Amino acid sequence: MYDILIIGGGPAGLTAATYACRAGKSVLVLEKAAFGGQITWSPRVENFPGFVSISGNELGDKLLEQAMEQGAEVELEEITALQQADGAWRAVCESGAFYEGRAVILATGAKPRMLGIRREEELVGSGVGYCAVCDGAFYKGKAVAVNGGGNSALQDALLLSESCSKVYLIHRRDSFRSEQKLVEALQARENVEFVLNAAVTELLGAEELSGVTVEQNGQRREIPVEGLFVAIGHQPDLEAFAPWLKRDKAGYADAGEDCLSPTEGLFVAGDCRKKSVRQLTTAAADGAVAALAACRWLDR
Ligand code: NAP
Repeated sequence: MYDILIIGGGPAGLTAATYACRAGKSVLVLEKAAFGGQITWSPRVENFPGFVSISGNELGDKLLEQAMEQGAEVELEEITALQQADGAWRAVCESGAFYEGRAVILATGAKPRMLGIRREEELVGSGVGYCAVCDGAFYKGKAVAVNGGGNSALQDALLLSESCSKVYLIHRRDSFRSEQKLVEALQARENVEFVLNAAVTELLGAEELSGVTVEQNGQRREIPVEGLFVAIGHQPDLEAFAPWLKRDKAGYADAGEDCLSPTEGLFVAGDCRKKSVRQLTTAAADGAVAALAACRWLDR
């Protein structure tokens, strides 16, 4: 039996592990895919304090090393349910095996919604990206496309238009979900072209993206770009834990800055929590807050 089970080994979960271990608690971090979480998708991270430039994988490795150095145990394991038995939490795997802990921190993150078209996964990091704030700088002077019509897509397009030679904003309708002032700001940019009523159907290029094909008003059009930023929303990874949480309409855990859930002994940290800024720094901050809250709860 561990003091704290942490589900999710991204920046929030691993920071929580470091803090909880330093407070003398026994900790197990359970991660289903890659320690480091979403940052492992980012070729370069240049906005995490203390690192001028570091690859997402390397930063993930460092966060893991730091947590383990403090005594955290880790397992690569997908947790499919959370149960309570005899005053403890059970994090249950698909096989039915389980890990037990007195408290649980959910740090399962959010994943960008993908287009679901052929070669999308293969070209991630080779032209296809989901975070213009993280990766936009690599496309300085180049032509790029942004897909989406919400605040994220239009903010991404605005940011990219500062440094890219050309930005195509591809959206499936002819009106936007985003704030009107963002639309107007983009309309005023000479290097931005709106591609409306259009869906990205094909990714071009061999090893690196060289363009996209869109279906627009029944016509097929090829657009030459070296980068495609997909900004069609995110989805939290909390389905397995829904019975223990209050969630907002989009599925994020409705927990405040204190990272407390409505359930005793259950805490929520990072991108899976309802919040306005989802960045590495805010995930790490949540990890610290949730870990200290869990420690206080265990010591109560
Ligand atoms: P969003 O508002 O849900 O917008 C997603 C966009 O992607 C929509 O335009 C949608 O088109 C489009 N879309 C969805 N699925 C698609 C698909 N399969 N193929 C093509 N297009 C697809 O998501 P978001 O922009 O990430 O924003 C999420 C939340 O954060 C929103 O509440 C937003 O206001 C907020 N946010 C706020 C700020 C800010 O500075 N205030 C910045 C970023 C985000 P349709 O419009 O046709 O459905």
